[in-house]
Amino acid sequence: MPITPRGPGSDDVRRATTLLAARIPAPLAPLARLAFNYAWSWARGGPELFASVDADRWSICRRNPVRLLQEVPLATLERAAFDSDLCRRAAAVEERIAAQLAAPPHGGFSPDRPVAFFCAEYGVHPSLPIYSGGLGVLAGDLLKAASDAHLPMVAIGLLYRDGYFRQRIDTSGWQHEYWVSADPERLPLTLVTAGDGQPLRVPVPVRGTEVQTQIWRADVGSVPLYLLDPDRPENRRIDRWIAARLYVGDLDMRLAQYALLGRGGVRALRALGIEPSVLHLNEGHAGLATLELAASEVAAGRALPEALAAVRARTVFTTHTPVAAGNETYAPEAIVAAHPDFAAQLHTDWDSLLRLARDEPDRADCPIGMTQFALRLARSTNAVSRRHGETARAMWQATFRARTPDEVPIGSVTNGVHVATWMAAPMRELLDRHLGEGWEARCDEDATWRAFDAIPDGELWAVRSRLRAQLVEIVRDRATTDRLARGEPRDYVELATRAFDPDHLTLGFARRLATYKRMHLLTRDLGRALQLLGGPRPVQILLAGKAHPQDDEAKRIVQLLFRAKGRPHVGERIAYLHDYDMELALHLVAGCDLWLNMPRPPFEASGTSGMKAALNGGVHMSVLDGWWPEAYDGTNGWAIDGGADADGEALDARHSDAFLGLMEREVTPLFYERDADGIPRGWLQRVRASLRTAARDFSARRMLGDYADRVYRSPSQR
Ligand SMILES: *Cc1c(COP(=O)(O)O)cnc(C)c1O
Repeated sequence: MPITPRGPGSDDVRRATTLLAARIPAPLAPLARLAFNYAWSWARGGPELFASVDADRWSICRRNPVRLLQEVPLATLERAAFDSDLCRRAAAVEERIAAQLAAPPHGGFSPDRPVAFFCAEYGVHPSLPIYSGGLGVLAGDLLKAASDAHLPMVAIGLLYRDGYFRQRIDTSGWQHEYWVSADPERLPLTLVTAGDGQPLRVPVPVRGTEVQTQIWRADVGSVPLYLLDPDRPENRRIDRWIAARLYVGDLDMRLAQYALLGRGGVRALRALGIEPSVLHLNEGHAGLATLELAASEVAAGRALPEALAAVRARTVFTTHTPVAAGNETYAPEAIVAAHPDFAAQLHTDWDSLLRLARDEPDRADCPIGMTQFALRLARSTNAVSRRHGETARAMWQATFRARTPDEVPIGSVTNGVHVATWMAAPMRELLDRHLGEGWEARCDEDATWRAFDAIPDGELWAVRSRLRAQLVEIVRDRATTDRLARGEPRDYVELATRAFDPDHLTLGFARRLATYKRMHLLTRDLGRALQLLGGPRPVQILLAGKAHPQDDEAKRIVQLLFRAKGRPHVGERIAYLHDYDMELALHLVAGCDLWLNMPRPPFEASGTSGMKAALNGGVHMSVLDGWWPEAYDGTNGWAIDGGADADGEALDARHSDAFLGLMEREVTPLFYERDADGIPRGWLQRVRASLRTAARDFSARRMLGDYADRVYRSPSQR
């Protein structure tokens, strides 16, 4: 059974797969169909198929299967077509995915009325670089979980041709940014056409101009992801550029992006003939979707108050930002200038609309944000962890005119991560073997975890050691190229080639380099930190992360770190890896033994990289913020006090001391304490508890189930 795309644009996907299949020998046709659905990326044996065609080119193509099949030499394809094992495996993977996609929908949900998910960024796969970090990766994981659970969903986003910036660090530790333009024709995307064979065009009013957008479709399992793209020849150059880059600095350009996403997204759904049951606004960027939806109700003859009530009945909102300053705000004039026609369409005036977006409706000078529109016009709002829920209720108390934070109607659905994406193959194989395939669906059963406890320590340790060794190989390779590219002195480069020991305790810290994430805590007490590296029980440290191009304070953190370059052991035991992305994240979370998170509480809404590490048997040490207070039980990792403190310096000092103290007293002794067989029994106890916690309670499967039951079902269905 071939993979059959469904829904608007599916004919275009079919046409594209047929064209690609025509280029390759017939026995490889399943690969062409797989290439246009990212389900291959989390199917067992999926990524290995494309690697088997041509491993080198697979890596040159950054694991983009469409580009691989377009570029690979004919002779290689012919050789692959004669590889009967490969052909058999490709057919089997396609068969499994096709069967999965054909399953009946999740109870109570109809494919005719899907959930429409809106997000400014999506981290589906490294080959589709339209994400910057946690928000996008979470959105990607949620789409995959919706597909796994057969929940009817469509997703709306923007196609950023230049994506997020790429990062290069110079010898002084300063970050430089550059952008790489993607050619959508070489990505697993298809342009949605109208009946006349021409691209379907959706006009979106921005700053008084009708910007014509076209729509690309990416398939994420059963979920079509529709990406709006204003880069069309009939648009003015300045409008074609609106969605060139993700999170541009210029505020007017951002407002234009949000117009495309929110208003354009609703218009695109209409043009595609999709009538969603629920609009899920993931973060505030798409907030204007609410007013656009109201405009269609008004056009159909409803009065504005009824139109807004109808919008509220089908809109849900997830907030991800625990600091007021993180929610961008704008001068009212900027919003009006971006949407001069909007109030008239809604049969009202701008002042009445702006009242919706002000904390204090009568104060005309209140700055306006997209988030407020979403908060006021959604039937439900949720934060992304329990602690973040508390923070958000306190933060939005005024907006809801509540007497106490407890009265603020904001709940929480704690984030989770997609197990099949983030658990490395060796660990997944170990669990498949002992727990039986399909164990992900049985994570809440005790029997599953009894079988897990019965896995011999030796086998578990062998997998951990293998994952660490694989990471060390990659790090040597990347650290060497990074240092060469920076123009470092020869002996410092040489250190990288023999750096990192496959048997040493490996600590990872990789995430967006925002100041509140406090990477600088690692080196706050430099002398003591260096002793960890060079002691009898050595620690090696892997760091990565990008600072926002305009965040010089965050960039200086890396520079500070680089000052320690010449100190003993630093060259061979610490690496700052360039250009953190999903690809690098996959390697790091798989191979690191200890995953560190040091946010300044309560600024971490959830954090998800620690969950990914835990799925692979990494152990999490974190400030009790975000998801960690819900997860930490004293056996499954380490915790640092999560109380907030207005005195940032004092807090930094305490947390740095707590981190180093735990490393010295507990972490390194436990990791290096071995029995006669060379196995760290005590450490493996933590590894088991950590993995169990993540897989059972912090999977995207659990998260999606929570959204389906508590958020998407209409109140009458629950
Ligand atoms: C998971 C992930 C993140 C989020 O990490 P946090 O722990 O939430 O900061 C960011 N970037 C990438 C590439 C990821 O894979």
